Formats: sequence, C-alpha cells, structure tokens
Amino acid sequence: MEDSPRKAVFVDRDGTLIVEKGFLSDPDGVEVIPGAIEAVKKLNDEGFAVIVVSNQSGVARGYFGEDAVVKVNDRVKSLFAEGGAKIDALYYCPHYANGSVEEYAIDCPCRKPGTGMVEKAVRELNVVPAFVIGDRKSDVELGKNLGVPAVLVLSGYGREQPDEVVKMADFVAEDISSAVDWILNSLKTER
Ligand SMILES: [Mg+2]
Ligand SMILES: [Zn+2]
Repeated sequence: MEDSPRKAVFVDRDGTLIVEKGFLSDPDGVEVIPGAIEAVKKLNDEGFAVIVVSNQSGVARGYFGEDAVVKVNDRVKSLFAEGGAKIDALYYCPHYANGSVEEYAIDCPCRKPGTGMVEKAVRELNVVPAFVIGDRKSDVELGKNLGVPAVLVLSGYGREQPDEVVKMADFVAEDISSAVDWILNSLKTER
C-alpha cells in the first residue's frame, strides 16, 4: 500500500521566494527574499511538502532557454538547502500563447492559473494541494482552481494587483514569512 499523500504548499518563485527581477535568467541574480528560508523551514517542520510552481514565459518569448530556467531553479534550491530549508521540487511552464518561439507558443494547461504543474506534482510526488502562495492574480486564481486557500503576498508584483485580486485572496500577507505564519495559525484554529 502506498503511504497517504503529504500536504503540499505550492509557492510561486519570482516575487515570492526570490526578488522579482523581470525575466531572471542568470543564477547569480538570484536574491532570496528576507525571511523566505525560515518560512520554508517552518513548513518543512510542520510536515508540508514545499513545491515551487513558476510561469517562465521568457522561454516562449525568446528571452532565454529552458537551460537558464533550470540553472536559476537549481540555484534557488541550493540557496535554500544551504539555509537548512527543503524545497521538494520546482516546476515551471515555459509556454505562452503569444510567444515568439514557435514550439513554446501554445496555450498550455500548465501555465498558472492552469493546474497542470500541480497535477504533475500530485502524480509524481504523492502530495495533495493544501495552500498556494504567490504575488500575482494567476497565483490566487490557481488556489481557486484547486479549491485550496490562496495567500497573496505583497512582495514582487503583489502591491500592483487590482482590488478584485486582493478580494479573491483568502489572506493578504506582507511577504512569505507572514503568509506562512497565517497558514500555521489557521491549522491551529482548525484543531
Ligand atoms: Mg511571481
Ligand atoms: Zn507549459
């Protein structure tokens, strides 16, 4: 028999875990948002799987290749690991319907708010979605599409989100650190 699935928090990368730099393709440009490593550690300690899901339309737009995305992701994973925080996996969608690179210019079900990356994680990692954290409408909508609470963080593009997105979010947090505190608190009140 298979072990029962672990609860997973799906976290956006740019603007949520690391500073939003606009189509980051250089691993040396990875700058962890203050408190993010400790926040992931708290989720680890609570038994959550932490899975990054990131739209990387820069590939479809011809700005960089998938190899650059993988290098940046590897850098993120190792910086968190050095700080003692485990990111279980990082998924990305390189597609974008209006992209200029033909093979990537598709309307992909993996592109957030589509649930494709989460479904892949569910299949590969024996997890069940519990929360979503991110700085954009597509992150909040991903939570809605999955039927799990979505936290909007005000780092990255968070402050630029229209009122409808703020209203749609289950919680609005200053950053990932306070997002995680809210998640852990909401578990306590459930018990
Ligand atoms: Mg983002
Ligand atoms: Zn895709």
